[in-house]
Amino acid sequence: MQNIINNLPKQAKDKHNENKKFFVKLKKRPPKNLDYIMEDLHEQEFEKTDCLECANCCKTTGPLFTDKDVDRVAKHFRMKTQQFIAQYLRIDEDNDYVLQSVPCTFLGADNYCSIYDVRPKACREFPHTDRKKFQQISNLTLKNVAICPAAFNIVETMKKLIK
Ligand code: SF4
Ligand code: SF4
Repeated sequence: MQNIINNLPKQAKDKHNENKKFFVKLKKRPPKNLDYIMEDLHEQEFEKTDCLECANCCKTTGPLFTDKDVDRVAKHFRMKTQQFIAQYLRIDEDNDYVLQSVPCTFLGADNYCSIYDVRPKACREFPHTDRKKFQQISNLTLKNVAICPAAFNIVETMKKLIK
């Protein structure tokens, strides 16, 4: 898995123009059943991909924390919201709460998330490949294929499947 992760930025760069063209076309004329196609592709890919062997998202890009995420995780630690924010978060250029540092503080050496049950919504949904109206997040996906081997594979399969 580590080899795949190491090669991913270059592979994603090589495919970038092709992917960009594909998503422009997809946005203009998405198949009627795109939501179902994505659900299937997502499910099939994550039957093969074990996130515990990877954790590249947690190691390289922290999630943003919504207010609800902040409250829930702070409560989990029995901390006051402000205390939790001061200890773990900062505000980024888009005015969102994000982690002060990556790899994520809550990631264990065994790739387990120590706050899995209360983890941020963005972590639960990453890499968003089963999202409804997937064509609307093409810019995000173009970035995610360089981070997430599963997202990379899903986009490669999409290109073969949707002409
Ligand atoms: S979601 Fe993607 S990047 Fe994150 S651990 Fe799973 S395969 Fe790796
Ligand atoms: S909170 Fe958990 S799932 Fe989210 S980035 Fe950190 S370790 Fe990964």
